Amino acid sequence: MAWFKKARKPMRSPGAEKPSRVPEGLWVKCPDCAQILYNKDLEKNLSVCPKCAYHFRISATDRLRALLDEERWTEHDAHLTSTDPLRFTDTKAYRDRLRAAEEATGLKDAVIVATGRLEGLDVVVAAMEYAFIGGSMGVVAGEKITRAAELALERRQPLVIISCSGGARMMEGALSLMQMAKICAALARLDRAAVPFISVLTDPTTGGVTASFAMLGDLNIAEPKALIGFAGPRVIEQTIRQKLPEGFQRSEFLLDHGMLDLIVDRREMKATLARALRFMGAAPAPAPPPLAVASATDQ
Ligand SMILES: [Zn+2]
Repeated sequence: MAWFKKARKPMRSPGAEKPSRVPEGLWVKCPDCAQILYNKDLEKNLSVCPKCAYHFRISATDRLRALLDEERWTEHDAHLTSTDPLRFTDTKAYRDRLRAAEEATGLKDAVIVATGRLEGLDVVVAAMEYAFIGGSMGVVAGEKITRAAELALERRQPLVIISCSGGARMMEGALSLMQMAKICAALARLDRAAVPFISVLTDPTTGGVTASFAMLGDLNIAEPKALIGFAGPRVIEQTIRQKLPEGFQRSEFLLDHGMLDLIVDRREMKATLARALRFMGAAPAPAPPPLAVASATDQ
């Protein structure tokens, strides 16, 4: 019950009835430097703050747009969807979570697997979508990434995996943990066949994803200041009973300690990947790409 009750209606300010002329979402504040940024400028800058280079989180689709030539690609295994094998329910049924995530993102799981061209080089790219249940890796995400590796092997095209994930998907229990081994086995076959694999780690890459494929690249490249780790800092502090150093589990710290090969600004990621792939022996594809509407086709 309220302590005070207003007997009269509050005075209305003169401008109150005019609708705001600034539509919502037109401006966004940088969480790092507090600069107010025009959304369209930010988008053009690949969602990197022009003032302080803070990297905003972007969707898997935007990742593919930023990396692949003419923003064109062919999607693979888009129809795979979780069967909810454990009939899992916590505060909400897993089935409902899946449905909500599907509605919010338009995807059936937390990974998009695409083939396309990166500066003229044929590549297989798997991009993780954080908006889909925290980018968590369940059976479907694991299967799609495994198939991406197998496709790369079959076509002898380099594989790029862009991780953005909270780790294994708890709602699928041990089945989600098995994906780590499955993907690693597929990557080992790729390695034996000398097909390049580059891992791109973005904010955040944690849990079972870090503990498996994200750290297995021929090159492990991270975006600046990305959170990369296995267990969360609080859990580690409680376990080892020590204060963790400044910047622990951020890209820069991991680079200093030999866990990463490179930290690359998102605006230079495409050029860097192309340079690395060319160095590893990838050659531009001879014929121009076919003129099909690419993004929605499923193979
Ligand atoms: Zn900023």
